[in-house]
Amino acid sequence: MDRSILQKCIHCGMCLPSCPTYQETKIERNSPRGRISLMKAIAEHAMELTPEFAHELYFCLGCLACQSACPVGVDYKTLFEASRQDIEKSKVLNNLFRLTARTLLIKFLFLSPTRLRTFGKLLRLFQKTGLVKWINGFPFLPQKLREMALALPPIAPRFSFELISSHEIPSGNKSLYKVGLLTGCVQDLVFPNINRDTADVLLYNGCEVFCPPRQGCCGSLHAHNGEMETAQQLAKALISAFPVERLDGIITNSAGCGSHLKHFAELFPKGSEWRKKAEKWDQKVYDIHEWLVKIGYSIPKPTSLTIHSIRVTYHDACHLCHGQKIKNEPRKILKSLPNVEFVELKDADNCCGSAGIYNILQPTMAKKLLLKKIERIKETTASVVCTANPGCLLFIQKGLREQALNHQLVHPISLLAHYYRLTNQDSLEVPQSKA
Ligand code: SF4
Ligand code: SF4
Repeated sequence: MDRSILQKCIHCGMCLPSCPTYQETKIERNSPRGRISLMKAIAEHAMELTPEFAHELYFCLGCLACQSACPVGVDYKTLFEASRQDIEKSKVLNNLFRLTARTLLIKFLFLSPTRLRTFGKLLRLFQKTGLVKWINGFPFLPQKLREMALALPPIAPRFSFELISSHEIPSGNKSLYKVGLLTGCVQDLVFPNINRDTADVLLYNGCEVFCPPRQGCCGSLHAHNGEMETAQQLAKALISAFPVERLDGIITNSAGCGSHLKHFAELFPKGSEWRKKAEKWDQKVYDIHEWLVKIGYSIPKPTSLTIHSIRVTYHDACHLCHGQKIKNEPRKILKSLPNVEFVELKDADNCCGSAGIYNILQPTMAKKLLLKKIERIKETTASVVCTANPGCLLFIQKGLREQALNHQLVHPISLLAHYYRLTNQDSLEVPQSKA
């Protein structure tokens, strides 16, 4: 634990109103200030690292709203990740089920793109044949495992490497930039269409796209769950997969990944070879909205097909607005679409409850936050809801479905791709980033 970060906190409490867990419980321990005080007590050996502390840190969403609200710039992300790493090292939460699930998920499945895709294909087979529902009939399996299996999102029939070539060139060979495209892990399995849309948007804007077919997880899941060594291993593999030196930018369309991908250098010791490589990498990583605004993206022209206006709203994914401070760019893009009436969502930057695997581990709190988000969406009367993170897309979709609401849920870049395509095609249908 970095004491200099802990000491920066002046206990002013300015972060409390922004913290979703504190907003719900009004308990100091469930607030950023309370959590920082506990971390400090442990760092100063005034308190042991107990299971209660560990549970508190897993009750925190890691949404980083507190970091945005803090007037003195406390780096909560570093404290949060270091705390979870200490918790895992201390083994205070270990039990057989947790250990098995973590080893299988974090250290086996999400470590290799081949394993993950093979698992994805098998899971799709189970889902398509309805076999996945049979799992509920196996009482010898832990209930948590059965719930998790049933809650898994539908897997796409084809993954990103089957939709995007390893090297694509803009039409007319008018290449202005060379960019790498990150396809992610969950995004690749569940929303590969968003990756295809991103590649199309980049090509439309004069970017030559390099998309290595064998890309793994970026390791953000591992870093947020205290597995820093595995996160380091995955960062090395991803850096090695791209021709970093030759690229002007490395583009991600997933908020949660972007927030981690821009800080690979912090995973390696100062002065090491990998630190230098990671520093070069970090300088080139851009969120897709950020990149498009930076290069001056082409604004879709109105056509006879865009005469009908649509009302669109936008939910800020935590790791885009708080983690990367990107709020204006997605709004700018959405507002620039012809005949789009953009309407602000109240509390747009409040977490929807998805937060990686938080919605599985803490379903009660996650559900409370999701219900609030859905209420806010209803207030807008928008028919299209945009957000730029696979976890938020899945979780908000679940919330909408549970209330039989028929909003279109779509990644902003898929909507932009749709408007570009309208200039050549005759489809009026708004796309759906549907799992
Ligand atoms: S990361 Fe989010 S949930 Fe955790 S303390 Fe900060 S604001 Fe609260
Ligand atoms: S984290 Fe920042 S805002 Fe929160 S109590 Fe500490 S200094 Fe104040």
